[in-house]
Amino acid sequence: MQLQNHLIAKIPFQQATRIGREIKPRLLVLHDTAGRLDKGNSADFLRNHAKVSVHFVLERDGFIEQQVPTNRHASHAGRSSYKGASGVNGFSVGIEIVNPGLMTSLDGVTATTWFGQNFDIIDHGIQYAETPHHGAGWWMPYTEQQITSLTELLRCLCSGISTIEDIVPHWFISPGRKIDTNPLFPLDSIRALVLGRDDPEADKAEEGSKPVPSGRDDLAMIHAPGDSLNMRRWPSFAPNVLQSIPHGTVVPIVRAGVFEGRDWIKVVYGGIEGWVVKSHTKQTGASA
Ligand SMILES: [Zn+2]
Repeated sequence: MQLQNHLIAKIPFQQATRIGREIKPRLLVLHDTAGRLDKGNSADFLRNHAKVSVHFVLERDGFIEQQVPTNRHASHAGRSSYKGASGVNGFSVGIEIVNPGLMTSLDGVTATTWFGQNFDIIDHGIQYAETPHHGAGWWMPYTEQQITSLTELLRCLCSGISTIEDIVPHWFISPGRKIDTNPLFPLDSIRALVLGRDDPEADKAEEGSKPVPSGRDDLAMIHAPGDSLNMRRWPSFAPNVLQSIPHGTVVPIVRAGVFEGRDWIKVVYGGIEGWVVKSHTKQTGASA
């Protein structure tokens, strides 16, 4: 089977130092770089490293660079297994998403990365979260551009490589050893979007809400002066942010419901549907 280097024409290819034998990918494995956010920083490191490599690197601004052909072995997952098969590098395509990884905070104001960089928690939308797979920590959300680019890339890979079975984060194939991607990563939604799988929390939200017919009060303006509003996978303040919508943006409303005593609306922004708190929006009337 011959696979293309460039599944998406616009993705530049900069060849990595470490490229191995031919493989037949069954999995798409998602990673965090757990490094600096500066564009090119992680991409340069991975491209030039003698012992590690990855197929794709996704920057904060949504830019993607390919470094290894999708039908060649890259060294991104280390010790790992999937459905009883060990050494996932031998049958997967790796995608590194630029994100600082696990952070700690002593004061709830500043979060510190493992490499000593400090981020203002409010400025960067950093959230505290704890899961059985990640433990407890402070985590930086992925950018809207990253989620949009990643969704497009995953769709292209799934349609271009017939042997792909699933999309998994690194922690899933290296449990107890790896914690990337972070707890804020919208894994269920992305898998649902790309693979057509069910998204249980989103399904519950659908059941507990009503559609807003188009033409009557079906537009809302985001009202978060000097800030932006988080769009969420389901109507809750759990770590489930899909992206943030800038103040003043007018968005179509598709559903509405009351969850835990609070009014939520489901809106469309950047081609993605998600939930926002209604009190941070203003009704602007009808689109038709
Ligand atoms: Zn990883």
